[in-house]
Amino acid sequence: MATILELYRVDYWKYRAEGNANIVLQYIGPHSRFRNTVLRLRKADRLNDSGTGWEGTNSGDDTITMKNLTKESYFATEVIGLLLGQDFVEQLIAVALPPGFLSSLALAMEPSRPESRRQKGIDLAQSVGFLALDHTRFIKPSPGQSDIAVEIKPKWGFLTKSAFLRKDQDIKRRKCRFCMYQHQKIKTGQEGTLSKYCPIDLFSGTELLVQDALDSLVDTPQNNLRLFVNGIQQPVSRESMAQCLSESSTSTSTQPDEQQQRRKSQWIESDNPLDHEKDASGPVRLTEVLTQILVESPLLRRLGRLQQALDSLDVETVHRLYTYLLEHDSAHLPEPTVEEFLETAQAFMDRTDMNAMMTEDQETFETHNAAGLGFEPEDDLEELPESLQLHFIREFLLSATLKDCSILVTIRRDTSSAAVATTASIISSRLEVDEGSPEFHEACHQIKVKEEMFVYKITCIDLDPKKMTSVPMYLKKDRTIVDHYLATVGDREATCGAN
Ligand SMILES: [Zn+2]
Repeated sequence: MATILELYRVDYWKYRAEGNANIVLQYIGPHSRFRNTVLRLRKADRLNDSGTGWEGTNSGDDTITMKNLTKESYFATEVIGLLLGQDFVEQLIAVALPPGFLSSLALAMEPSRPESRRQKGIDLAQSVGFLALDHTRFIKPSPGQSDIAVEIKPKWGFLTKSAFLRKDQDIKRRKCRFCMYQHQKIKTGQEGTLSKYCPIDLFSGTELLVQDALDSLVDTPQNNLRLFVNGIQQPVSRESMAQCLSESSTSTSTQPDEQQQRRKSQWIESDNPLDHEKDASGPVRLTEVLTQILVESPLLRRLGRLQQALDSLDVETVHRLYTYLLEHDSAHLPEPTVEEFLETAQAFMDRTDMNAMMTEDQETFETHNAAGLGFEPEDDLEELPESLQLHFIREFLLSATLKDCSILVTIRRDTSSAAVATTASIISSRLEVDEGSPEFHEACHQIKVKEEMFVYKITCIDLDPKKMTSVPMYLKKDRTIVDHYLATVGDREATCGAN
């Protein structure tokens, strides 16, 4: 683990964003080698309402906890990297957090944090944080060009076809989890309006449906879409999505080329940026570039199929296995170590033909997947060896990680001399933050959209291991969502993805 003295100043860090589990800070200090890095810190529940402290998750042996935390970085790179492919997974470098630094940092960031996220704070008990590459930008800046990044939280990309599904939950075969969950979110006040987005369309691989899903995300982004320009988060709207690409090459460019001039004049001709959407020959829209990237890249297909294959038993059966194991050993079920997760992923890969998984049509994939399990719903699952019961709970937890991750697509206009290349090429950049530490690297691809060349990279982030003890919570949540959906909407809407 690295101790990097240049990092430990509060004024070198700026609030970037946060989810439920982690908070991300952006480096703004003077040392150029950190300029493209962010610091990821774990969050914890606050101890009490008076705001005097936080309840850390670190209550046991410090050495063990630190060892586990450092290993967390291997979970993303090794375990998820094995499943998704190393190039798609963000690298994390564990850095020590000296006493005092974290509490000062927490205090300094508090005013920048959104009210809705403040029920949790930075976990003051953590002694290790993670340095990651700031994937909202490219390692090497390009003069006159903006780096545009879109972060998508795609959620569950499949309709379950599990033979293990309970009869009264048949609706899960037709309505996706995200669409059903929307109704529950309205009920609890978590959201004010239903999202128009359906993940089944985004994961479809069909250009028109992907484009439609992206447009829906732009209209109702909730927490599923974020936009960054040069590392700074921007509000999401049709206007902002249209403008950032249109303006990306005109702001600071010293020698605007002919193409840029032409683009600019096209832009000025209309007062309303939405007019351009109807004009097929108009400037390239950001969502058009995104659509082509998402259709071309294997990431979404791989993610969706892995989510489904690793959730073959459905939460109901996984919870049954969990209960059997608890009954045999009433004490507790130990949380999987990174090594055990790695074994689980390896065993899954051994029984799965990944090439076939990527190319098979949906029905063949589902048939192969079910056959690969080696047992059926009619079998007495309690008779399965305990090691196998454990294995399938862990597979489910891996699926849970993949259902909760985000995808960051970073785009820039390609004005380099290589921009004329018509074949896809990969340009790699590296960044060394500390002597002896692993290097950060990024793999960039070229793509041509409407006669214009772009460079992009696509990265999967927020890949945290999920906990065994969460299985009862997953079951409860699943039932609540399904019950509420059936009670309020019923089984009358069109099947997700059937449009
Ligand atoms: Zn849906």
